[in-house]
This record gives sequence, structure tokens and C-alpha cells, in this order.
Amino acid sequence: MRLYELEQKPQGRPEIFLDMDGVLADFFSEYAKLAGVPADVRSGRADYRSIPAELREPAIDQMRGTDFFYRLPKFASADRLVKMAVQVFGHYNICSSPLRGDHANSEAMKTAWIQENLDPQPKRIIITPRKGKYAKQPDGTPNILVDDRNTVLTEWEQSGGIGIKYQADENGLDTVARGLRRAFEILKGRREHTPQNIQSKDYGKMIAGPQDNKDAS
Ligand SMILES: [Mg+2]
Repeated sequence: MRLYELEQKPQGRPEIFLDMDGVLADFFSEYAKLAGVPADVRSGRADYRSIPAELREPAIDQMRGTDFFYRLPKFASADRLVKMAVQVFGHYNICSSPLRGDHANSEAMKTAWIQENLDPQPKRIIITPRKGKYAKQPDGTPNILVDDRNTVLTEWEQSGGIGIKYQADENGLDTVARGLRRAFEILKGRREHTPQNIQSKDYGKMIAGPQDNKDAS
């Protein structure tokens, strides 16, 4: 690499990618219902944190090949999150992972969910077990990912992107606003880009990741 390349600052505009499950679509309560966890009387939501470890895999198995992802309820905050992204970036994109062992079906169902639930529609829909591939643009400009999973956010930031940890049933949209402020400070060179130490709870291994060769694309 020549010196002028090292000195070159990325010039492009970042793209924003929104995750689906846990961010726009209420995956958690439907997952808990499948596992037989009774819904809370007040909220009407079943709590995925109550799923016994041995019931996780059978519940995930029941999602494969079905319209589970198409039927997920939309979080009440989803429209405001989309609106926020459009206000800042002019448009938004979706980056979501397929269920392990269910790539083509997950992609079809998630695409149908997006068509039915989101307005305006995203510019791009990416369904991939390897989100890190989209973390930056060819000129090095970092892209921004709003996601609820620590492993995904860590991979994204280690691949040169900027992550925003947000889980719709636990965080308010002020969390996203703070993340965007951090992102723009990094992009303007006012803050160092050091990958965050992001924690999230383990709720079973269901989402296909880079280690799942069967789903690799
Ligand atoms: Mg998610």
C-alpha cells in the first residue's frame, strides 16, 4: 500500500443497515410461545428468558420450513426507527441472518414480512449469515448496523463497520440516537474507532453464522 492511500480518508457516505429479529420484528415472544412459555397476563408477551435450555432446539426446529418469520409481529417502535434512519440517511437497508438450516425459506419469509410491514421499503435487502462482508464499502467507508446480537456487532466492528447495539424490547430509540452520534464522530475523525465490548444474552444458537458452512453464501 502506498503512502497516499494510507493518508486517504474515506469519502463516501455510510449506509445504514437494520437487523430484523429483535430490532424490527418481535422474534422473542413468538419463539417463547413456540417453546410453550405462557404469555404474561399484563403484556401479553411470552418471555424468551424463561425458555429452558433443552426446549430451545426443538422450538427452533419448529420454525424451519414454515412461515414463522412472515408471521412475526412488528415492534411498536419499528416505524419510528425506520423513519429515523430515513431522516438521517435518505433511505435504509435491511441486513438479517437466516435461521440455521433454513436459508432459502427464511429469506423468502423475511422478504415477504418486509413487503407487508415496512414503509418506505428498504433500498437493499440482504439475508446473510456473514454480515461482516457488508461492514464497509470498497473505498473503506464504514457502514452502520443496528443489531441486538453482540457476536454480530463484534464481527461487524472488527470488519471495519460501526455497530449500534439496540434491542427493541429493552432499549429506547435514544439508544440508536446515541449510537448514531458516536458513528458520526468516528466518521468525522473526532473519535477513535475501537470495537465496543458489547454484551447480549444467549438465547440459543439459532441464527446462521459464518461457522455454518451449510448456510454460507
Ligand atoms: Mg437480531
